[in-house]
Parts: sequence; C-alpha cells; structure tokens
Amino acid sequence: MAPDAGVSSVSAAKQSAQPMTAERVAELGIVGAGGGGFPTAVKLGTRVPLVIANAAECEPLLHKDKELLHHLSRPFLRGMVQAMEMVGAPQGVIGIKEKYKDIIAALEQQVPNNIRVAPLPDSYPAGDEFILVHIVTGRVIPPGGLPKDVDAMVANVETLMNIGLDQPVTQKYLTVAGAVRTPVTLRVPIGISIGEVIEAAGGATVDDFSVLLGGVMMARPAAGIDVPVTKTTGGIVVLPSSHSLIQRHAAKWPVIARVGRSACDQCRFCTEFCPRYLLGHPIQPHRAMQSLGFSTSPSAIIAGTLYCCECNLCSLYACPEDLDPKNVCVQSKPAARANGLFFTGTPESVTPHPMADYRRVPMSRLIARLGLSEFNNVGPLTEHAFTPGRVVLPLKQHAGAPSVPVVKTGQKVNAGDLVAVPEEGKLGARIHASIGGIARLAHDSVVIDA
Ligand code: SF4
Ligand code: SF4
Repeated sequence: MAPDAGVSSVSAAKQSAQPMTAERVAELGIVGAGGGGFPTAVKLGTRVPLVIANAAECEPLLHKDKELLHHLSRPFLRGMVQAMEMVGAPQGVIGIKEKYKDIIAALEQQVPNNIRVAPLPDSYPAGDEFILVHIVTGRVIPPGGLPKDVDAMVANVETLMNIGLDQPVTQKYLTVAGAVRTPVTLRVPIGISIGEVIEAAGGATVDDFSVLLGGVMMARPAAGIDVPVTKTTGGIVVLPSSHSLIQRHAAKWPVIARVGRSACDQCRFCTEFCPRYLLGHPIQPHRAMQSLGFSTSPSAIIAGTLYCCECNLCSLYACPEDLDPKNVCVQSKPAARANGLFFTGTPESVTPHPMADYRRVPMSRLIARLGLSEFNNVGPLTEHAFTPGRVVLPLKQHAGAPSVPVVKTGQKVNAGDLVAVPEEGKLGARIHASIGGIARLAHDSVVIDA
C-alpha cells in the first residue's frame, strides 16, 4: 500500500480538519485502540494544554502504528488536530521511535506549526503512558494518576485516526507476526476470527502453534483460533506451542508462587529494571517476592504493587532465575487495595531514579532475550479482501460495562449499523456491525451471519 498522497504540506492537515465533538466520537464507538479500550469521548471531556499521540508501539514484532503513520497520515493528523481542538490544547506532540527516520521526516513535512514530532528511544516500554509522558514532557504522572494530572492527554495513533475518519468503528488494523509465512499489517473487520486473519498472513509455519494477542510482553493468550478480533486487538503473534513465551504465559499461580518462594535470591534485578520504580513510583517487585514466604504485614510488604503497570519486564527480561515477580505483584493488588495501601505522598516527592535513562532496555536486546530473533521483524500494511461468513462482536470490547444489544435475533443489519449501546449511566461504548447479514444474540456477543 502506497503512502497517502497529497498530504505533504502544512495546510493539508489544517484544511481537512472538520468540526468534531465528543458526542460524535461516542456515536462512532471510538475507544482507545492501543490496549485498554477506554471510551475516547470520556477522555476528550478533559481540558489540557497538550495532546500526545502515542506511536511508541514498543511490543516486539508489532508495527501497526508505524504503518498507519506511513500510509494514513492524513486522517491521523486530521483526528489529532480535532482532538486538540476538543480538549483546548494549543500544542501537540507525536511520540515515535527515533529509528523510523523516514516516517519522522515525512511527518515533519506535514504537521502544523503547533504539532512537533518527538523521537523516542527504541526501548521497552516506551509506549507506557507514564514513560511516554516523562520522555516527552519531563514530568512524572503521580502513582495512580492520569496524564491530565500533568496537563496532558495521550491517545493512540489508531484512535486519533478513527476520529479523523469520522466513521463508525467497524475495522481494526493489526500486525500478524511470529511463526507465520508473511508477517504483515492488515485492516480486518471487527469480529472476524483470528484464525482467518492468520490465514491471510499465509498461515502458521508450524503445525502445533499458540497465539498471543496484543503482543508478547503484555499478551493475552488466545483460547483458540475462533477468538474474534476486537476494537483493541493490536497484534496477533503466532508462536510454536513449545516456545518459552507460550510456556511462561501459561504458567499457573500455584507453580509461580512455589518456585518463586524457593528460588528468589533477592538479587533485586527485577526492581532495578522496573520502569515504574525508575520513574520514582513506590513499586519494588523484589519486595513483593518476599511476601511469598514472609508476608505477615501487608503494609510492609505489598505496598506499591498497585502501581505495577504489568509490563512484564521484571519477569521476562530482568530476573536471572526466570521467576515471575510481575504475577506476584498482580496477585498482591487485591490485598493492597483492600488494605487501602494507596500512595499518600505528594506528587513532588516522586522523582525519577538518577540511572533511569541508562537502564532502558533496548528492543534488540529484549527480542534476543525473549527468543524472538528468528522471526522476521517486519509488518508492511497490505490490502486483503476479507469476506467472513460470520463475525462475532463481543458486547465488552472496551473499558467499563458490557454494552446492551439494540438488535434482535433474526434482524437484518447492514455494515455500519448500530447493534449495541452503553448501559444507561455506565461507562461503555457503542458497537456497530462490521458486515451486513442476519444478527443473532449470544450471551456475551452479537453474532452476524453474512
Ligand atoms: S530478579 Fe528474580 S531472583 Fe532477583 S529478586 Fe527479583 S524475582 Fe528474585
Ligand atoms: S511488571 Fe514488573 S517491571 Fe513492570 S511495572 Fe510491574 S513490577 Fe515493574
């Protein structure tokens, strides 16, 4: 797919900006496309002086956002300008890995004067909102806080592009990577099975494979290849079932706890590499590991685990014993919450570690450590005509409560038709049909048969 033509001027982005409102963004069903699925209209309800486009995309092997900036910069920039207008931000920043020099050069030709491109280090997890905001602004979001606490709003590239497109969200861009014949970035109908998307990438190169959704670090193992693509599926990574990452993600808590209790030598590597600890947040995973054997005082041991962003760097990169401090932190969170162990310091007391800039984990080293070097680290955006016979639209593919169907079983729908709305008074998002056909209500989804 060629880069979109005719956008190589400052005026292109300015002239194409259309009036847009948060209400319209809600109507279109736009949610954060980068992972959490937070309803974008709610985010746009804030007033901040800075919008940051998150193009860091630091999950190994994924390239979706970079490809969108290369091929679809026009709707992306339009959406970014509109988002800035909606939150009253006079300034915008596009945070993108410094290694993408050609894309940075092209963007710099197109952006209006009040948007700048900020090159980011090629490290993990540069796309974490807290890390991104710190790199771009020098400010630290306080533990448990939001970017608006430091006068910023962060939005994913595809989210901003969806605003610029001004259409119901029925398609998803994602990278198919790992053990597939042709690693690629595709635009797919929401609700299509991941198996059909893997076939579009040439199919798996091994017979016995497993799938990680969303990347490999913060992955969600797929229950099978019938799992549908949702508004937040940014990547499909296929790996041999014997791969260590598949084994790590499949580990059960009793085993994690038993091995961790006996094998942790308290070397502190997990803490010393933890990006949130380095940011000055009160999180020390080696202390969470202590709690496996000795915890009798929650306030002494598990305070701070609430502020683990679950980036998995401690478990999949730092720990020399291949232990799982991330999951120990995750397991501690409910107890920490129940004991009210929230951060009580002042924002000013949160100061980054003096070595923070020198302990960033380079992507190349991470890929090698994860055993991913053998896989082709590319994902060009390619046209593919999908004609699924069926799509499954989960009623919960966003932050908040499941949406409520507004169609009945047997009802005919067209692509783009509204099929579900947020529950009255609850956080949620509208869902639209991604193909035309006959709707059927299942217990947690709307199914459409073509
Ligand atoms: S890095 Fe591993 S062995 Fe070292 S303290 Fe952390 S969990 Fe324990
Ligand atoms: S997963 Fe580990 S490295 Fe990442 S924030 Fe949590 S404790 Fe820190």
